[in-house]
Amino acid sequence: MSDWSWLKATLPSSCGGLNLRCASLHAPAAFLASCSQAGPLVEQILGLTPSPGILPESVVPPLASAAARSDWRVPCDIDVPLHQRTLSLAIDEATFQQLLVSTPTTRSRALARSSSLPHAGDWLNVMPSTSLGLHLHDREFRCCISYWLGVPLHSIPYSCPECQCSADIFGDHQVGCGGSGDRITRHNSVRDVIFSAAQSAALGPTKEVLGLVASSQTRPADVYLPHWTSGRPAALDIHVISPLQEQLVAVAAFTPGHALQVGVQRKLASNLPSCRSAGIECIPVVVETLGGLAHDTITIVKDICRAISDRGYGIDLHSTTRHLFHSLAISLWRGNSTLWLHRFPTLPPSRDGVV
Ligand SMILES: [Zn+2]
Repeated sequence: MSDWSWLKATLPSSCGGLNLRCASLHAPAAFLASCSQAGPLVEQILGLTPSPGILPESVVPPLASAAARSDWRVPCDIDVPLHQRTLSLAIDEATFQQLLVSTPTTRSRALARSSSLPHAGDWLNVMPSTSLGLHLHDREFRCCISYWLGVPLHSIPYSCPECQCSADIFGDHQVGCGGSGDRITRHNSVRDVIFSAAQSAALGPTKEVLGLVASSQTRPADVYLPHWTSGRPAALDIHVISPLQEQLVAVAAFTPGHALQVGVQRKLASNLPSCRSAGIECIPVVVETLGGLAHDTITIVKDICRAISDRGYGIDLHSTTRHLFHSLAISLWRGNSTLWLHRFPTLPPSRDGVV
């Protein structure tokens, strides 16, 4: 595992890491926050005059240095009393910038960008539960972690057993390989999570409806909602897209969410005119292979959860929403891992992959 991957692992999952913060990096933040929080009480116990609640000038440079914040120059730049959360977030932010600066390749830069998109890290915060289907098997998890951290899945490139194209060591070909039904299975798995949630919300959803658009055999709705906002029907079209594929990776390295934008535009181009003519709202539900969700995808998930909550099942909106995002995340990553595992090379053990 490279230093770069280790550094990535020390970030919070919301920044593309594994929530394994480096203790030596965050210890000063914990110490200073603790001193700051306990200071008033200590002064009270010792009968001292309470300090005005600002930091001494001398504390700012080492604190700014520890948090790698060049914009902290004077005490008033920093909120007092100090909170470890604030300081650690600043350290995380600085670590993420360090990760971007030290990227060895365009791919790793795109990986860092895409794995820090909203909801990309959801899969790492799921409480594993076999009864709820919120679990990954060991081999699945190892593949996912390798892809997440930029650790090679294989020691050498090989011929993909499903399509005979070149399969790369990081699994980028494999996660988008259309050589068998695995990609469709992943798509359908994500679709079914949305469909089930819409059922729970009593939205009357149907799957893959034919004939929605007159004189057309297209199916613009993976999930069709007959009565969506303002009573209009809506066609949800699910699309999973890899930001690390050859055509997108160069821009994805510098533009966060580039693949999501491409996916949305792709779906709108193919479905919007026909949906509009039929009076149907066209909603692309786009998900990156690293878990990042398009803005409209997040909105529709939250809207469905609100509708579920309104049904009065006794589960609060926050828990319902978190569960749906987690279900989406696990269905996606399980689908990814199936694509990788079904395409493992059949080489001698000495030349087999890392996983
Ligand atoms: Zn293939």
